[in-house]
Amino acid sequence: MQQNPLDPVHEFHVIIVGGAHGLQKSQHGISYIVVDRETGPRNRNWGVTINWAHTLLDEILPPRLRAELASCQPDESLDIDAVGIDYALIRNGATGEPIATPRSPGMRRLNIQKTKRNWGEGLDIHYGKKLVDIEVLESGVIAHFSDGTSETGTVIVGADGASSRVRNWLLGDEKGTPEVLPYAFMNIPTTYTAEQARYLESISNPFVDVGAHPKNMYMGFFLLDKPDHARPETWVFYILASWRIGDQEDIENSPNRLERLRRRMDGWADPFASAVRWLPDDTMIGADQLKTWQPREKWDNRGGRVTLAGDAAHTMTFHRGQGGNTAIRDAFEYVKAMVEVRDGKKELQHAVDVYDTDVFERGEEVERSRQAMMAFDDFANFTKSPVLKIGMTPQGTQSGRESS
Ligand SMILES: Cc1cc2nc3c(=O)[nH]c(=O)nc-3n(C[C@H](O)[C@H](O)[C@H](O)COP(=O)(O)OP(=O)(O)OC[C@H]3O[C@@H](n4cnc5c(N)ncnc54)[C@H](O)[C@@H]3O)c2cc1C
Repeated sequence: MQQNPLDPVHEFHVIIVGGAHGLQKSQHGISYIVVDRETGPRNRNWGVTINWAHTLLDEILPPRLRAELASCQPDESLDIDAVGIDYALIRNGATGEPIATPRSPGMRRLNIQKTKRNWGEGLDIHYGKKLVDIEVLESGVIAHFSDGTSETGTVIVGADGASSRVRNWLLGDEKGTPEVLPYAFMNIPTTYTAEQARYLESISNPFVDVGAHPKNMYMGFFLLDKPDHARPETWVFYILASWRIGDQEDIENSPNRLERLRRRMDGWADPFASAVRWLPDDTMIGADQLKTWQPREKWDNRGGRVTLAGDAAHTMTFHRGQGGNTAIRDAFEYVKAMVEVRDGKKELQHAVDVYDTDVFERGEEVERSRQAMMAFDDFANFTKSPVLKIGMTPQGTQSGRESS
């Protein structure tokens, strides 16, 4: 047994910047704090397909949260075993016919807002704490926040998303800033009339329903929430759309987004055509961008005291449904490393070096997901898309957890 690296008068304390997942004192007996720059839970919402990472949820979630996972689903009553569908649907957007149905047994959809709310219950989350700087001391770290306060701990993990401040601190602005891709991107939550909602649900895949259009455009149509089963007019759906930036309005991301989308809807089949046609004319579509960041070199983790997880460590597009799954894997691996350090089985530096190497290697998914996105922009070669060739299954070191 190696000596615990901590000053014996201080308890091992983990500062988690951002992600409200993973380390729970009740679960692992490790002291932690989650800090988030938001002043409360965010209002942006979307769904995440948990495919291969669902087995890891058994290990990182306390049994109660694991048992109540259905309460995070868009349709909380959907019994994923009874529904008899374990595949995503990729259609030809012009005909509506299936091009591919990649399988992923055990997959389920999680509404990100419900998930953060449910998993955050009982966690020590401090909102309104925007990290602006980090100080590394011999015996620990200090996180400094924009409100002038600070938090002292043993280690910091930056789970602060695509534009991570911790990443910029580790690597500098030039290397740490994500790339904005030259694509128009819209995420449009909406409700419909009861009749329209029933029809759209009846013709859509309950997990993932995506269209690749011969004119090189991507659309997805998904259920986001079903607050009242008996009243379909309350059901919330969302549409995702992306295409390579074309005209000046796309370049400027001008706010007439609904008009710009409708201009591109000729030749689309259902569910996409009706889903856009039936959007209320006053639908507001917020500004959005597609960003990626792939780790190209390992960061200096300052003796294991500062590292990254989730989108902060690898920001990828959603076209192969990997970002959330990979974040769950990071949480699993980081918790494992911290437990080993706490138990004196590994030194902090070594444990975090091993974690970082794994995260770095798994960061190659950023490029694969980018290729999956670009395939929607090249319909003639769509069969070469990673989504058609390998579906949603993990690749490379991502797939090797059992042997690690
Ligand atoms: C439309 C869409 C669809 C997707 N579909 C899928 C899918 O089907 N399957 C899949 O696996 N993944 C999917 N993803 C990706 C998935 O949602 C992300 O990979 C995942 O949410 C990343 O979680 P995270 O905790 O790393 O980052 P985030 O969820 O971005 O959380 C980062 C947190 O850090 C906080 N923060 C940021 N900066 C600071 C700071 N300076 N100080 C303090 N706090 C800060 C933010 O407020 C935020 O709460 C999708 C993403 C989108 C946008």
